[in-house]
Amino acid sequence: MSRQIIPVDPFDYIIFGGTGDLAQRKLLPALFQRDLDRQLPDECRLIGAARSQHDDASYRHFARAALEEFVPQEERETECVERFLQRLCYVVVDATAEDGWHRLKSLLDEADDGRIRAFYLAVGPALFDDIAERLESVGLIDERARLVIEKPFGRDLATAQELNRAIGQHFGEEQVFRIDHYLGKETVQNLLALRFANTLFEPLWNSAHIDHVQITVAETVGVGDRASYYDRAGALRDMIQNHLLQLLCLVAMEPPASGSADAIRDEKLKVLRSLMPISVDNADANTVRAQYNAGAGPDGKVDGYLDELGEESDTETFVALKAEIGNWRWAGVPFYMRTGKRMAMKMSEIVIQFKPIPHALFSESSGKTVANRLVLRLQPDESVKQWIMIKDPGPGGMRLKHVPLDISFADAFEERTPEAYERLLLDVIRGNQTLFMRRDEVEAAWQWIDPIYNAWSDTSQPVRKYTAGTWGPSQSVAMIERDGRTWHDGD
Ligand code: NAP
Repeated sequence: MSRQIIPVDPFDYIIFGGTGDLAQRKLLPALFQRDLDRQLPDECRLIGAARSQHDDASYRHFARAALEEFVPQEERETECVERFLQRLCYVVVDATAEDGWHRLKSLLDEADDGRIRAFYLAVGPALFDDIAERLESVGLIDERARLVIEKPFGRDLATAQELNRAIGQHFGEEQVFRIDHYLGKETVQNLLALRFANTLFEPLWNSAHIDHVQITVAETVGVGDRASYYDRAGALRDMIQNHLLQLLCLVAMEPPASGSADAIRDEKLKVLRSLMPISVDNADANTVRAQYNAGAGPDGKVDGYLDELGEESDTETFVALKAEIGNWRWAGVPFYMRTGKRMAMKMSEIVIQFKPIPHALFSESSGKTVANRLVLRLQPDESVKQWIMIKDPGPGGMRLKHVPLDISFADAFEERTPEAYERLLLDVIRGNQTLFMRRDEVEAAWQWIDPIYNAWSDTSQPVRKYTAGTWGPSQSVAMIERDGRTWHDGD
C-alpha cells in the first residue's frame, strides 16, 4: 500500500535556532524527508537564523552534516540531498539585538507570492518574547505569519500565562502552533481513528467496560551533561504536564462534534478541567516521585542522578500518578501514568484495560480467562494490539489462549513510519492546529499540575530512589498493586 502525498502551498520556514540541537536532529531531517517524498514545492525556502557566523554555503555544509548524522544512509538520495540543500539560506540574527532583522525582512520579501511564513522558535523560551517583538517591529507579522513554539510552555501556571500573554501581544491564537511532538505520532492519530472511525470501541469506552488506563513513557537515557538544565524541570513538568496529559485527553475526551481543530481541543480542555485535584490530602496515596541511583544503562554501568548533577536535589527523574476524571463517563476509572529516565526499556504506550468477563463459562482446565486489553505502542515500533481470548487451535478439548490482534504499522503498510515532526511541520503550513496545544489547554494542564508540586513540598513527600535500569521505585508498584492491578511492562 503506498502513501498518498498531498503537496502543500509554497512557504518559507524560518528556523530561529537553526544551528541548535533540535534543528539538526529533528527539523532539518524532517523537512528533508518531506522533500524526498516530493511534498515541498520547488519555491520553498528554509532559512536558518542564529548568532553563529554562517553564510548560505557554510550553513548548507552544516545541514549536510546533520543529514548525514540523522538520516539513514539508504534514505539520502544524492539528487534529493542536493535539491534540499539548495533550498537553505542563512541569516545571522541575534534575538536580543538589532543585528540581522532587516536582512531577514528583505530576504523574505524577495518572494512576493503571498506565501506562508512559518517562524519556528527552536531557541530557549526566554527568547520568545524578544523574537516576537522584533518580528513585529520589522513588519514581519501579518496574516501570512505563523509561529511555532516548543515546550517548555512555562514552568507553572503563572509563567505559562505570562508567556502566552507575551506571545498573544504579537500573534493571534490562530497563528500560534505549540508543538507537542507526541501528538504527531502515527499511533496517537490512530487512537482518534480507532475511536471515531469505528463503531466497535465507542460503546465500550466508559466505566462500565473499562477497568483502568495506563500511560507509560519510559526512557533508558539519563540526564547526562544536561543535569543542571534538567534539574530545573523534573519529570512532572517535563513530561506529565504536556505529553502524558495530552495522551490522557485523547483517550478520555468525548466524541467531538466535528474534526475541526477547535472542536477536538474543546473536548480535550473539558477533560483537563474534569481531572480530580491532587493536593495535600491525597498526594501521598496518588503520587510517587523518585530519582535514579547508579545501575545499568543501555551500554553498561551508569551513575546516579545526584552524581551526574554533583549536588543535592529533590528533582524527580521518575513520577507515577493515579489520576481520576470526575465526569459521568469515567467516574471510578483510574488513569495511571508513569514516566522516568533510566528505566528498564525505552517504551511509550497506552494500555486500555477492559473489565474481566462477568461469568466464567469455561472450566478451570481450559485455562485462565484474561481480560481484554488494547495496547497502543508509540515507541519503539509503533503498533496497535487488541488482546483477546481465542480457542487454542487443535484437538484436546477447549483450551483458551490470550492472543493479540496485531496491526503493526511497519508490517501492514511496508513503509517507513514518518517522524512526528514531518507531519507537524507541514500541518503548520496547512494551518491545521488539531495536533497543537491551545493556550487554554496549556494553562488548564498547569492548573492541575501546580497543586501536586505544592503538595509535595507541603507534605515533604520523600523523593524515593530506584536503581537505573529498572521500572522505577517499589512505591510505584505498591501504588497500583494497592488497587489490585499491575503495571504493564511491555510485551
Ligand atoms: P540548543 O542546541 O542550545 O540551540 C539553541 C539555538 O538557539 C542555537 O541555534 C543558538 O544558536 C540559538 N540562539 C541562542 N541564543 C540566541 C540569540 N540570542 N539569538 C538568536 N539565536 C540564538 O537548544 P535545542 O536543544 O536545539 O532546543 C531549542 C528549544 O527547543 C529549547 O527551548 C528546548 O527546550 C526545545 N526543545 C528541544 C528539543 C530537542 O530535542 N533538542 C526537544 C523539545 C524541545 P547560536 O548560538 O548560533 O545563536
